[in-house]
Amino acid sequence: MSFLKGSKLYSILHLKCPFCHEGDFFLSHPYDLSQVGDLYTACPVCHRKYEKEPGFYYGAMFVSYAIGIAFSLLCFGITWWFAPHLSIWGFMGVVVGLTILAAPYLYALSKIMWANMFFSYQGAGKGTPS
Ligand SMILES: [Zn+2]
Repeated sequence: MSFLKGSKLYSILHLKCPFCHEGDFFLSHPYDLSQVGDLYTACPVCHRKYEKEPGFYYGAMFVSYAIGIAFSLLCFGITWWFAPHLSIWGFMGVVVGLTILAAPYLYALSKIMWANMFFSYQGAGKGTPS
């Protein structure tokens, strides 16, 4: 997957700094529920800030909503494919259950996708703290 380095997809899939693709974006793993979605204020490698303004990541709610819906539809489609005779409550249970299990990861994805909408790759060189 290193051929993707320099693209936004690399930063999103590896949960890395959108500027340098080297430093971690989140304080911990998405399933470390005590720190779910908590991110560094600046990249530990290039020291560029991850927040443009206070409340910057509220916009990630829109991304979270979109990928939550997309994930639910994907779960529904896969369930429909493998178990088409399941009752409506069976479908609901599978879709809701998988979406709840994926929620911490989807939350982390929404934040890094939001950051990648506004920040772009600038190489691994040291940025100036701003
Ligand atoms: Zn960085």
